[in-house]
Formats: sequence, structure tokens, C-alpha cells
Amino acid sequence: MFYDFDCTNCNQTVEIEKGMNNPAPDKCPKCGAVGTLERNWGNNKPIATVYKCKGMYDTDSRKVGSR
Ligand SMILES: [Zn+2]
Repeated sequence: MFYDFDCTNCNQTVEIEKGMNNPAPDKCPKCGAVGTLERNWGNNKPIATVYKCKGMYDTDSRKVGSR
């Protein structure tokens, strides 16, 4: 499986094949800098979905008829 990584040193995107047996790359193949690669999720970045808590104060606060 291929993953995209952004190098913070040379600002290039490198595609690295990373399998289950391969450790995460710590060296940029472009410029050779170490520890500058950050995972680039690209289009695969999951959209942060925010679910509002609805119905918390639903109709639970119905009042009993006052006397
Ligand atoms: Zn680099």
C-alpha cells in the first residue's frame, strides 16, 4: 500500500510503499532529511463530522398542570 508523505524540509510529497512489515519512513528520499516526513492524507482525509447531540432536552420537560 502506498502512502503520501509531505517533507517539511523540501516541501515535496513523496509516495512511499508501506506495508505491515515496513516501518514508517523517517528519512526523506528526496532531500535525505531525517524526521521531516509527515503523513499526507490527501483526499483520503476523513471529513470531521460533528454530530450534534439532539433530543437531549426533548419533551422531557413537560410540566404537570399546576394546581
Ligand atoms: Zn525532503
